[in-house]
Amino acid sequence: MIHKFIQNGMYFVLDVNSGGVHVIDELTYDLLDYVTEPLTDECPEAAVRELLGKYPEEDIREVYAELKSLADDKILFSEDDYEKYAQTSVASPVKALCLLISQDCNMRCDYCFASKGDYGKGRMLMSFETGKKAIDFLIEKSANRKALEIDFFGGEPLMNFEVVKQVVEYAREQEKLHDKNIKFTLTTNGILLNDEITEFLNKEMYNVVLSVDGRREINDRVRKTVNGKGTYDIFIDKYKKLVAGRGDKDWYVRGTFTKYNLDFAEDVMSLYNEGFEQISVEPVMSPETEPYAITAADLPRIFEEYDRLANKIREITAQGKFINFFHFMMDLDQGPCVIKRLKGCGCGNEYVAISPDGDIYPCHQFVGIDDYKMGNVHDGSFDTAMKNDFASAHVYSKPACRDCWAKFYCSGGCNANNYLYKGDIRTSHELSCEIERHRVECAIALKAEKLLDSAE
Ligand code: SF4
Ligand code: SF4
Ligand code: SF4
Repeated sequence: MIHKFIQNGMYFVLDVNSGGVHVIDELTYDLLDYVTEPLTDECPEAAVRELLGKYPEEDIREVYAELKSLADDKILFSEDDYEKYAQTSVASPVKALCLLISQDCNMRCDYCFASKGDYGKGRMLMSFETGKKAIDFLIEKSANRKALEIDFFGGEPLMNFEVVKQVVEYAREQEKLHDKNIKFTLTTNGILLNDEITEFLNKEMYNVVLSVDGRREINDRVRKTVNGKGTYDIFIDKYKKLVAGRGDKDWYVRGTFTKYNLDFAEDVMSLYNEGFEQISVEPVMSPETEPYAITAADLPRIFEEYDRLANKIREITAQGKFINFFHFMMDLDQGPCVIKRLKGCGCGNEYVAISPDGDIYPCHQFVGIDDYKMGNVHDGSFDTAMKNDFASAHVYSKPACRDCWAKFYCSGGCNANNYLYKGDIRTSHELSCEIERHRVECAIALKAEKLLDSAE
C-alpha cells in the first residue's frame, strides 16, 4: 500500500508497510494514479495516453521503470508483514495508572469530557487508603515489568494535594521493596499552583501537563471558573514559574481547540511567544449539537490551519529556534516497538484508570460508564476478559484501520472516542481519522524536510 500527498509544494509518497518516505517529482506523483499492484513490466498504456500532453512519453516510461524497480526491491508497494505480531501479541502486564485523585474540579470548562470534573458520578476525592490500594494493584499486575507510570488526574488533582503527596511517598517505598521504577505525571489546570506545590511537582513529577487553550480570549471563552470568569490570568504566570524550575524534567502545555478558534495556529504561536516550547493542542471531540463542536464541515478549514501551523514551525526552526508541537512529532524510523504501533495507547490493557472509589476503567474517558467498569481495587476484582478484549483491539481488528494508510502512525485511534461516538471501540471515528491523517501528512513532510536539510 502507498499513500501520496502534497505538502508545502513538495510531492511525497509513503510506502505504508516499510515506512519509507520518498520525495518525488510531479510526473511520478501523477503516474502513481495509474499504478496498481502487482506492477506489470510495461508501463500501463492508459498512463502514457493520458499523461502524454503533460510529459514526454520517454520520461513517463522511464519513471515507470524506476517505480517497478523500487517495487521489485520492496521499497515501494512492500507487503504488510505486521499482522502476525498483532495476532500473536498477548495481553500485557499493567504498566500505567491514571489515578483520578480528584473527581472534582475548581473550573467549569464548556467542553469538559468529565462532566465538569465529576464524571457524572458525584464530586469526590480519593482517600489515601484507595490510593495505596491502587499502587498495590499496579505493582501486583505489573508482574515483571520494572518501569511503571502513574498519572495524577482529575477533575483537578491539586484539589487533593495532600493525598497526592501521601501516594507519592507510599509509591516510593513500594518501588524499593518491589524493585520497580515509577514515573509520576500530574495534569493540572493551574488554579491552585503555589510555591510549595510547584516545588513538590518539580521534585517528584517526571512530567507535568499544564492545561491552557492558547490566547487569553480563546482560553477564557471556554475555560472558566466556577463563577463563569476567565482563568488565563490566574494560571499563566504560575505556569511560567513552574516551567522555569523544571530543569531537565518533562512538561508541556496542553490545549483544546474548538469551532470558536479554527485559527488555532494563533493559539499555538501565542503559547510559544509566552515562552512555552512544548505544546499540544488537540481538537475538541463532542456531540455535534454543542455550539463549540467541530464537525465535518470544518475539516477543510482545519487542514488549512494545520498547514499554516506547519509553515510557522518551519519559520521558527529556520531561525535555529526550538518548538515541539506534539502532533507533528514523527518517528520516520517507525519507532522501537512494533506492538505499540499496532495497539496505540494500551488502554484497558497496559493502562487503566482508577476512580476515587477504587473502580477500575480502561482509561479516564471510560470512567463512569458502568459497562466498562473492569473491577475495584478494594475487593481485588479485575475483569481479565475485558482486558484481553482491549489487548486485541489493534489496527488489524478495526475494519477501517486495516486499510488505512496512516495505521502505523495513528495506531488505531482512540478507543474511547470510538465507543463514545460510534458505540464500539473498534469502529473508527471518521472525524478524528480525517484530522489525524492530515496531521500525519504534515508531520511526515516536516520530518522529511529536516532529514533532507541535514543530508545537504
Ligand atoms: S479543568 Fe479539566 S476537569 Fe476541570 S472542568 Fe476543565 S476540562 Fe473539566
Ligand atoms: S486514522 Fe482512523 S482508520 Fe486510520 S488508523 Fe487511525 S483510527 Fe484507524
Ligand atoms: S482510549 Fe483514547 S482517551 Fe483513552 S487513553 Fe487511549 S487515546 Fe487516551
